[in-house]
Amino acid sequence: MLNYEPIDIPFNYRHTCWFCAEPGNDIVQFPKVASPYLAHVPLQLPACRECKFIATSCITDSIWDLQLQVNNALMKRYAKHLGIGVNWTKQELEETTLEGTSFKGFTDSAWMMYEIAKGRVDFSGWPLAINGVPLDIIDDNYSYDFDGTRFINFDAAVEFYQKAESLNKYLIDGLVSLLGQDRFAYALRVARLHPSISKRMADEVLAEITEQEFDRAEMLKQSEHQSGLKDVNIESISAVTLGSEQVQPEAIAWAMRRGIRDLLELQQCEDAFFDEHEHLGGVAAFALYHGLQLYLEARQDDSWGEQHDPNHSLWHQNS
Ligand SMILES: [Zn+2]
Repeated sequence: MLNYEPIDIPFNYRHTCWFCAEPGNDIVQFPKVASPYLAHVPLQLPACRECKFIATSCITDSIWDLQLQVNNALMKRYAKHLGIGVNWTKQELEETTLEGTSFKGFTDSAWMMYEIAKGRVDFSGWPLAINGVPLDIIDDNYSYDFDGTRFINFDAAVEFYQKAESLNKYLIDGLVSLLGQDRFAYALRVARLHPSISKRMADEVLAEITEQEFDRAEMLKQSEHQSGLKDVNIESISAVTLGSEQVQPEAIAWAMRRGIRDLLELQQCEDAFFDEHEHLGGVAAFALYHGLQLYLEARQDDSWGEQHDPNHSLWHQNS
């Protein structure tokens, strides 16, 4: 039995579930068994009955992962209720009440169900502290974020939207495998256009998207071509040592592709260089740029180029 410490509960959250903000008097103890990965004391969190029940079946070493798992389980369970808010606005629901009184009961309660479910899944607990000392527990769990919602992974997001919006499963699965997770928004847009579709029609839509994707890939290829970048094989470029500095092949290739041959031309493209190398971080990008500056400066001297530049012949091939 671990020595669980109850977390601090702010006054306005008394008898409230830490996972979903519903009233509750149950508790969740985390972790269930001692873990060598835990960097904090075992925690006792207030919970509602439902979240406690879900948490019991979750196995994890991270309180944040537990929180995400409980949250996603609620989303899955209440997908239909959450879908009401995606498919309707409150105003639209209210307008439908004009059509008949028997419908009114349904729409009012439907919207209430949506608001309750939404409030629960949007709640992300209050900051963890014990006896007034905050717990800074790092959240380094992987998740897939889409449209402001965190999902355990991409598949969980697809499953949620399919259920919440009653999308055609065959179609959305096909779209997702064609378009991938980076273009999930587009896959959803297409799936929403065809809420009830036969398998044969779905196959037609998928064939159309396949064709579109092919055209898109061709267009991207072409625009690369038309951007005027020269075809330079980075494998054929050697690194150059200048004094204590190393000039990297990728920097030289960058200049060659753009036909940048001297410092003035490089300066004109400085912003583009840093934009394209931003991902390396400032210091690494600057080192790369500085090397290129030294190299182009050295190449101003023709005899240095001929005698010392291992890439000299490549500059002539690419001129
Ligand atoms: Zn709860």
